[in-house]
Amino acid sequence: MPVSGLDPYDDQNIFAKILRGAIPNRTVYEDEFVLAFHDIAPQAEVHVLVIPKGAYVSLVDFAAKASEVEIAGFWRAVGRIAGDLGLEQSGYRILANHGTDAGQEVPHFHVHLFGGGPLGRMIQT
Ligand code: 5GP
Repeated sequence: MPVSGLDPYDDQNIFAKILRGAIPNRTVYEDEFVLAFHDIAPQAEVHVLVIPKGAYVSLVDFAAKASEVEIAGFWRAVGRIAGDLGLEQSGYRILANHGTDAGQEVPHFHVHLFGGGPLGRMIQT
């Protein structure tokens, strides 16, 4: 079920459980600001999720409440992970869903990182 992206943070969401180590994940990268892991249902050859370690529901929440150090650390990590995955030359796409119209399912802010081959049109309706 899509979530609103404006709800209060629910610490029982699946990514909160992954951050606590209660649910396993295939980690790609981790530092003090982020955890990155393979999506359980990949929609491209490479489909990695990058999540902040702080408790933010969506990009709106992250932009409003995270410190500048956290925001910089998060986006630097996204760029670094794309490089570590060898996607800088061939290209990649990043995407963040906010709320119902975007189909956000997990109410912990995350960026999808897609690559590994041609990705098609940006939006399919
Ligand atoms: P959203 O629609 O919220 O932007 O994306 C949520 C993503 O989380 C989906 O692509 C979904 O496949 C992925 N996902 C949901 N549950 C799990 C899980 O338990 N483990 C992993 N690795 N990915 C998950």
